[in-house]
Amino acid sequence: MMRRDERQLNQLIAVLARDRDLPDEQMLELLAWPCEAESVRAAGPACDADAALYREADRVRREVYGDAVYLRGLIELTNHCKNNCYYCGIRRGNTGLARYRLDQETILRCCREGYGLGYRTFVLQGGEDPYYNDEVMCGIVSAIHEEFPDCAVTLSLGERSRESYQRLFDAGARRYLLRHEAASEELYRQLHPPGMLLENRLQCLFDLKEIGYQVGAGLMVGAPGQKAEHLLEDLHFLQRLQPDMIGIGPFLRHADTPFRDRPNGSMRMTLRLLAILRLMFPYALLPSTTALGTIDPQGRELGLQAGANVVMPNLSPAEVREQYALYDNKICTGEESAQCRTCLETRVASAGYRIVTDIGDVKREGVKRDDP
Ligand code: SAH
Repeated sequence: MMRRDERQLNQLIAVLARDRDLPDEQMLELLAWPCEAESVRAAGPACDADAALYREADRVRREVYGDAVYLRGLIELTNHCKNNCYYCGIRRGNTGLARYRLDQETILRCCREGYGLGYRTFVLQGGEDPYYNDEVMCGIVSAIHEEFPDCAVTLSLGERSRESYQRLFDAGARRYLLRHEAASEELYRQLHPPGMLLENRLQCLFDLKEIGYQVGAGLMVGAPGQKAEHLLEDLHFLQRLQPDMIGIGPFLRHADTPFRDRPNGSMRMTLRLLAILRLMFPYALLPSTTALGTIDPQGRELGLQAGANVVMPNLSPAEVREQYALYDNKICTGEESAQCRTCLETRVASAGYRIVTDIGDVKREGVKRDDP
């Protein structure tokens, strides 16, 4: 016999899957549903209280994307940053870090290697580094675009002016990842120093969309001070933005930041939110992130089984990977790109999915709806 609370949970999941939404009170209930054991593997996903949620998310993901997993090759451009976010290891205030920048030729070499390994999207991510002004950045983007016309160039360079985003778009960039980090003003202020404004970040996201970028937003699960109410605000914001990608991963502490003593986010909560996002946004590209793979050796596989459909292996030169230290113990810092690809291939297959060599655009059409 099903326990009463289990019936209640199943009902929440059924309504969420049907309506792609829940009334606030019920969403809060689902978000705050107790996570007894942190170890999903120990319990086995089948005995997990969240198993029904993962199953439903997987059903919807297969309806829209089948078993396809898209690859994004991540090139970590620079670890210089003018910002001082309290959570981030490459913040300006971290003086113990050796800083680096990749030049255009090095970046192109990474792309060539990636292309050979089947990557058709290159994500250039970095700290907010004034060195990469529009002139430098447009040069890099157009060089990649010219040499790899069948690939998508994605940028993740933080907040820039609308004019700058437009120039980069004109140079050939078509996607932009900018996690909103926290839609709650109160939480945003707890995570960032004064002077960094949520309003600006959200404006950037709407600018990017208007210009015509495919846009990715997202957040850290379990960021210091984050409560279920904050996550609810994030969900409302995402409903407003309707992003193409939503990137989430657990917050992980870094020893040389003000949050060095804060507890890490949890894998359970990350998986739960992934599944909720899949049900709310059936078409979305949801990466199973490096942070999820760092908090648990099986994290990325479990992420895929909870609704994620993208992986972003590292294409950066092996010798700089260690220095792009957003948080402690980041995985895949020792490997060469080819090793990452092989390892990922095995992991994705073991989870029951298939890596595809495809540009991997978001699917907005073909989403089957139950209601007319
Ligand atoms: N400067 C760019 C890229 C930032 S790094 C930008 O502003 O978008 C990419 C993401 O890593 C961030 O958006 C943040 O959500 C995540 N991140 C940073 N520090 C982290 C930490 N300690 N734990 C987990 N994720 C972190």
